[in-house]
Amino acid sequence: MNLRHLLCVALVGFGLQAHAALKVVACEPEWAALATELGGDQLQVSSATTALQDPHRIEARPSLIARVRNADLLVCTGMELETGWLPVLLQQSGNAKVAPGAAGFFEAGRFVTALDVPARLDRSDGDVHAAGNPHIQLDPRNIALVAKALAERLAQLDAANARVYQERHAAFAARWADALRRWEQQAAPLKGLSVVVHHKNMSYLSNWLGLREVGTLEPKPGLEPSAGHLGALKAQLAKQPAKLVVRAAYQDPRAAQWLSEQARIPAVVLPFTVGGNEQAKDLFGLFDSTLSLLLAAAR
Ligand SMILES: [Zn+2]
Repeated sequence: MNLRHLLCVALVGFGLQAHAALKVVACEPEWAALATELGGDQLQVSSATTALQDPHRIEARPSLIARVRNADLLVCTGMELETGWLPVLLQQSGNAKVAPGAAGFFEAGRFVTALDVPARLDRSDGDVHAAGNPHIQLDPRNIALVAKALAERLAQLDAANARVYQERHAAFAARWADALRRWEQQAAPLKGLSVVVHHKNMSYLSNWLGLREVGTLEPKPGLEPSAGHLGALKAQLAKQPAKLVVRAAYQDPRAAQWLSEQARIPAVVLPFTVGGNEQAKDLFGLFDSTLSLLLAAAR
């Protein structure tokens, strides 16, 4: 190795340190996207899941365990969304910095008002979460609440760059408020629209836009659609029609397709999170795409 090569290696090493103050692992793509908005080059961000995976169920692969082992901050939804895999991942990684209760463990669900909180907990009701519905990201007002809390956490963990996070958050919050006004104007025709959803993972979107969820393809949360349940749903729609059947990009298309053909209503695939389709490249694109798909199908 000559001197020039050595110098290069030293500079690259220094450059990496100067540019990525914190290593962030997000449990879901929406939180990776949000961290990137708030931290930019200060952060090295990755996501444990993609938009094409069911966030309830992933495997704690060795590469993911290694990423969590080296992380400074873990950003998850909480609300029991990740109970099937996060405890194993945390245990295997052995990283006390990101363990529950530590400053490096951030749960987005703590900062929003939960929907669908069950009055009783009964296993026979399916995959129901005590803390309420954990699919919080499809209400942009929730994103704003989580952004504020996450910016504060970043500033706490990386005090030397606290101003950077504060300024980036202020800029993001202003752009987000503008976008929210635009989205709410665009979405006005969707109010009262009757939809069938695959899983109860659109509740926050429905609540925000005033959609009426008249049925689910799953007989109970987390249970696969059955022939008997779909037949009953078809009979129900013959009496009380729905306008659309909606599913997330990661969900099996067959049940939605069947109902779409039987009930003669469009089947709409929503990105559900960042990366769920071409247009959903970031959080702004996620909502732009979601609204344009719903508006086009509802016409
Ligand atoms: Zn769910």
